[in-house]
Amino acid sequence: MTTFIRGATLLAMGGGTGAEPFTGDLLIEGDRIAAIGPSLPVPEGATIIEGAGKLVMPGLVNAHLHSNEALFKGRYDNMPLEVWMLYAYPIRAAKALPPRLVYLRSMLVAMESLRTGVTCITDDLYESPRSELELMGAAIDAYDDVGIRATVSAHVVNRNFLDTIPFTRDYVPAHLQEEIDAIQPVTTPDYLAFVREAHARFHGRSGRIRTMLAPSAPQRCTPELMLAANELAKEWNAPFHTHIVETKVQSVTGPEFYGKSLVAYMDDLGLLNPWTTIAHSIWVSDSDIERMGRAGVSVCHNAISNQKLGAGSAPVRKLLTAGVNVGLGSDGICSNDTPRIFDVMKAAALMHKVNNPDWSRWLNASEVLHAATLGGARTALLQEETGSLEVGKKADLLILDAETASFTPLNDIRNHLVYCENGSSIEKVFVNGEMVVENGRLTRVDEKALLAELRALMPEFLEYTKGVEAANGELEPAFTKVVQRCNAMDVGMTRWASDA
Ligand SMILES: [Zn+2]
Repeated sequence: MTTFIRGATLLAMGGGTGAEPFTGDLLIEGDRIAAIGPSLPVPEGATIIEGAGKLVMPGLVNAHLHSNEALFKGRYDNMPLEVWMLYAYPIRAAKALPPRLVYLRSMLVAMESLRTGVTCITDDLYESPRSELELMGAAIDAYDDVGIRATVSAHVVNRNFLDTIPFTRDYVPAHLQEEIDAIQPVTTPDYLAFVREAHARFHGRSGRIRTMLAPSAPQRCTPELMLAANELAKEWNAPFHTHIVETKVQSVTGPEFYGKSLVAYMDDLGLLNPWTTIAHSIWVSDSDIERMGRAGVSVCHNAISNQKLGAGSAPVRKLLTAGVNVGLGSDGICSNDTPRIFDVMKAAALMHKVNNPDWSRWLNASEVLHAATLGGARTALLQEETGSLEVGKKADLLILDAETASFTPLNDIRNHLVYCENGSSIEKVFVNGEMVVENGRLTRVDEKALLAELRALMPEFLEYTKGVEAANGELEPAFTKVVQRCNAMDVGMTRWASDA
């Protein structure tokens, strides 16, 4: 299959064609970009797409997402992470969902992602009460069927829940402590057997599906498990994807548990590497940032989720200056509450401007677009495959109508993409050389029918959810006290109001 896009405005975001948009052609052969440049010869038999009035750019990358939250979209508001998690990541009364519901849940996320220009996702998939291969397979089937590029984990926690957050035992009632203490965390050998089997089953499927290693966080996993996962990540050239210091509570956690910051703890264990990707990294000190830059890690900046949960503002300018690669993530679909990266781009471009009066340090549209494309690809170790329009790379790209209201009058394409456009100008989306969205509609699946099927399953799910919420709500008074206590502690910085 050969496709020739003729005379479009091309925003390549990398490679030999430079950083500026230009008028030219792009040739797709099979799953890859075969040529890009001005006035290319038209190959015999190619399907021609006329590019006049169109903008062609790389598909967006969602560097951090939890599809498992998608059924809670729009359900919760005004809770900080540690309280919100009681409901979104229930520890009590949770049971495994039917595989078809997991399939539809992932499909819901993937369909909206593709239609709004996200061609590549990193899904850090968590199932309550535990990961199961069949359920991970159901999510992957959805990504395979709809045609998106996906790196998928089985997110793992292997510590007693009460020992992942400081001071819980001062406030959680004894009978609830006893109940939670009886839950057996997964062992490191069982986890390793699981990820090896998942890798064997799913990795490489359709040239688009990959697996990764995702120990939840340094306070939620044992060092043995994290070290073993990190070794495997290196061996498989897969991301070692984790969460570090999203909240003030977590910034207190490092000193309380390990006598040092969580970043220093990870670094001292040898867990900060070029294949390490850290979600959030909000409450990082200058010395943490220096360690991260030296190690060459990536960070996923979740600009909307961090605001929704009141987590704080990641010091993105400092991270970039230190040499840390930064991608953009939606984070979970309950803390965002959508997988749309156009929204995250705008939020990321705006939020840092109110944190620092020195406007020379504000993120600009080019930096934000880089984070949403090539920077995001790097967080998934896919920078050689996707994230820019370059010869030899996979043809993951968007064709936008550049004559919509979002682009009229046209002043600066990058500013329009970040501040004016919301994905509604997208006409076509290609992933792996295949057109998966045409005229705003998905080509591989029947979106309306799938949404209707999901809606039909919701009454039963909501009935179940109400029971789970009631059981976990019993923990809320204790967790409220924990958060209030941590928030009152001095950790030598704030990420709520200043210091971008
Ligand atoms: Zn996350």
